[in-house]
Amino acid sequence: MFNWILKKIIGSKNQRELRRMLPIVKQINEIEADLQSLSDEALQAKTQEWKERLLKIQDADVLAAELDAILPEAFAVVKNGARRLNGRELIVCDHPLPWNMIHFDVQLIGGMVLHRGHIAEMATGEGKTLVGTLAVYLNALTGRGVHVVTVNDYLARRDAEWMGHLYKFLGLSVGIIENDQPPEVRRSQYQCDITYGTNSEFGFDYLRDNGMASSREQQVQRGHYFAIVDEVDSILIDEARTPLIISGPATVSTHQYDRFKPLIEQLVRKQNMLCNRLATEARELADAGKPAEAGRTLFKLKLGQPRNKALLRHLEDTEMRKAMDKAELEFYKDNDGKAALVALKEELYFTIEERQHEADLTEMGRNYLNPDDINAFVLPDLLTEYADIENDKALSQSEKTAKKAACQQYCDAQSERIHNITQLLKAYCLYEKDVEYVVEENKVMIVDTFTGRKMPGRRWSDGLHQAVEAKEGVQIDRETQTLATITIQNYFRLYQKLSGMTGTAETEVNEFHDIYRLDVNVIPTNRPIKRLDENDRIYKTRREKYNAAVEAIKDAHGRGQPVLVGTASVEASELMSRMLKLQKIPHSVLNAKFHMQEAEIVSRAGLRGAVTISTNMAGRGTDIKLGEGVAELGGLFVIATERHESRRIDRQLRGRCARQGDPGRSRFYVSFEDDLMRNFGASDRMTKIMETFGLKEGEELEHPWLNRSVETAQKRVEQRNYLMRKRTLEFDDVMNQQREVVYGYRNEVMDSENPRDLIIEVINEVVPKKVALFLEESEGNEPDAEGLLQWINTTFPLGLSSERAALASRTVEENGQFLVDTICDSYQRKAALEHPDAVRGLERYVILNAVDRLWQEHLYAMDGLREAVYLRAFGQKDPLVEYKNDAYVMFVDLMDTIKGEVLTNLFRSTTNLQAFEHMLSSMPQMLSRPEFALNPEAAPGSSNPEEASPTPRLELPLKRELPKAGRNDACPCGSGKKFKSCCGRLA
Ligand code: ADP
Ligand code: MG
Repeated sequence: MFNWILKKIIGSKNQRELRRMLPIVKQINEIEADLQSLSDEALQAKTQEWKERLLKIQDADVLAAELDAILPEAFAVVKNGARRLNGRELIVCDHPLPWNMIHFDVQLIGGMVLHRGHIAEMATGEGKTLVGTLAVYLNALTGRGVHVVTVNDYLARRDAEWMGHLYKFLGLSVGIIENDQPPEVRRSQYQCDITYGTNSEFGFDYLRDNGMASSREQQVQRGHYFAIVDEVDSILIDEARTPLIISGPATVSTHQYDRFKPLIEQLVRKQNMLCNRLATEARELADAGKPAEAGRTLFKLKLGQPRNKALLRHLEDTEMRKAMDKAELEFYKDNDGKAALVALKEELYFTIEERQHEADLTEMGRNYLNPDDINAFVLPDLLTEYADIENDKALSQSEKTAKKAACQQYCDAQSERIHNITQLLKAYCLYEKDVEYVVEENKVMIVDTFTGRKMPGRRWSDGLHQAVEAKEGVQIDRETQTLATITIQNYFRLYQKLSGMTGTAETEVNEFHDIYRLDVNVIPTNRPIKRLDENDRIYKTRREKYNAAVEAIKDAHGRGQPVLVGTASVEASELMSRMLKLQKIPHSVLNAKFHMQEAEIVSRAGLRGAVTISTNMAGRGTDIKLGEGVAELGGLFVIATERHESRRIDRQLRGRCARQGDPGRSRFYVSFEDDLMRNFGASDRMTKIMETFGLKEGEELEHPWLNRSVETAQKRVEQRNYLMRKRTLEFDDVMNQQREVVYGYRNEVMDSENPRDLIIEVINEVVPKKVALFLEESEGNEPDAEGLLQWINTTFPLGLSSERAALASRTVEENGQFLVDTICDSYQRKAALEHPDAVRGLERYVILNAVDRLWQEHLYAMDGLREAVYLRAFGQKDPLVEYKNDAYVMFVDLMDTIKGEVLTNLFRSTTNLQAFEHMLSSMPQMLSRPEFALNPEAAPGSSNPEEASPTPRLELPLKRELPKAGRNDACPCGSGKKFKSCCGRLA
């Protein structure tokens, strides 16, 4: 009921909006009719005229109003340009391609939707590439640069060249950003009126411009005015799950994956044996008429090995399935049940949560791995130990320091070990070869499970990638460290105006609205859709499902009807290919590696008798035209061997047939063994279905309400995935604010004509604070003039004696000013020795270097914090709130540290050696003692030992909240579990 009303409102709102555009369509067409009599030159002159006028407008609102005003005429110019190109033979990606398209009315509407900053939902084959030209042209007239974002580099080139003919004809310049371009080329491409490229190229350029470039000249982008994102769902939703990261090798690598691999392998083997025994036991118990015990055993098996083959076979039996569901329910019923569940888990070595993607060692597993050491999986309580050491009167100061260091070292090693083991276990139990990743050329390459695309160069974070590398026995790459990072969401939020187009946005309306403030307008097709979407065919097992699909393919192929076979993973596409080979059916397989060749294969997929197997993403963006006589055979037949987690991906696949009013047909094959059904299809309901229909081997089910229950499962996953993405974003928002501050400051440094002013600002800020810290009297704090001088003389080469400083003769404020003046004066003298042309660059470098190095360290620390706050979630604290609080403290720290580093390096950098030597000779003796030169804060007498380590220690805040507890005591966080299996675990 509710849904229906909602739909009605959305539907009518959409229709109202579209209806209001119709008069403008009419107007465009009338203007276009008049334009037809103009000469080419007269038409082209309009572009220049507009450009000149719009360039003069500064105010954003005025500019927007002006664009709205000229929209009808500008669109008419584009349409008329297309008409003039009609019949011309053009070259696109080195192939001849005749231009034979003039904007349809629905395309004009699409253009208006894009110009408004909405998403235009238009079915596959409706010509979205051409729709883009309207809004692109209009907005490019401002001269501020329009970015068109595509899903892969082949499409960027194809569309830029294809539509480029039209833009160039009208007098606009077009650029393409490609992977291997050097910065100068990139810059020139961004200077064009229109720039095509992939989201990662745009995003990485932004990161490089702001995180690495050290002068304006090195930056390539010139702002973020307007972006149109093609296949917007794929980019803003699917790709948005992994942030863009520029990383470099970590400075230290301490992993021991190789060392622990055999141990984990043994453990996994142990568990496999155990689970196979359980499977046999369950059968025996059931046969002996003990369904309750059988159910419990099956459920235990599911906890330990959810994809166990025997388990899946048992569950084909409705009695067994019912018994298991019943046993499971018992455990979730009440507190006693929950306690029993904890005990049940302890009968396994580890448990696997497929849905949450987690694998947890049990006590039994931990004992197996470390039989002799009960503390092997517990981190020491550092703070308490520190306090104990501090209070130990028998120890001297240096003994205390040494003891603390040893403690810290033990803790680091221990936590590294626990972490390595946990990641290895995950790698073995949850990451399957040819599903989550493939191994190629001795490398582990991630496969995007959404799109089936390989993601070269991307790595799982937090050591997981290394763990999988260890599992596969390939070279383990050094750990990497984040140098710069941004989520796709936050990159695209930089644009003043954003819009997008796709065939499938409707199911994600909420997300587009909440996260990007993008509304969706559904645009009707140019001709009525003739596609036949059949009911799903549902089977008990995968095997039966695949057999049936192969039969259907064989049948269609026999009649000459082309078939597009959609699979959900690389593994499944290879399985399909083997099955078709056995049947001697010729076919092509796409798994999205070579976009260009694939586009060609895809474009032939509609020919008579063609069979094409494809993972979801492969070759998207190229449409499938029907061959001679294929329409009579029913057009393209889309056969999917699995329902995807997300309905949107299914809709995309369906949309591949029946383009532009062609005939076409689509059918999905589903089995109860599919991941989607096992994890999200309400299990008891499936049991009922199987009972009601009494499914036999090879039999299929087909009914509209079965489609609905599959869809319910999909909606459940979609919702969960949305929440996960939202969560990622909420965390990144914290980082985003910090990034804005840091990048803003960086840009200020790069832009400033006189960077010395910024340096003097820092001196003015830091020095009086330090002076106050040392000299002001407060409770338990004696003024420490000696300490201040020590700090001054180790940071700046002033060689200030206490006589010359005469600190006692002034007030604290006066002293602050006096020292600022002395330092500035000395700095001016040092700077005078530098090459006058280079000194500004040097000053910029001093600041940027400090910002970049410490910001990267900060990013690393923030990664650690993210991990740490999740552990705190045990204490019923909201990890996000914890993250925000700590991130803030760390950021304030970062800013102080950056300033400190600027001061430290100020006198230690030079543009010429002579000046440098001169400077060295004028520095006080102390500075040439390396330990002080490297870390002046560590100089003896420094009253601020805290500051000696600039990176905040992340483990500490966690431990600080926990009073000491024994391993078997109730956990102080209040969870009710034992400490060792709760906060004390940390595994
Ligand atoms: P989409 O991106 O919407 O799936 P494309 O932009 O790839 O579709 O275009 C699909 C096909 O439709 C292309 O072959 C294109 O030449 C053709 N096409 C687009 N617009 C028109 C038009 N106005 N008239 C004729 N053909 C068109
Ligand atoms: Mg397209």
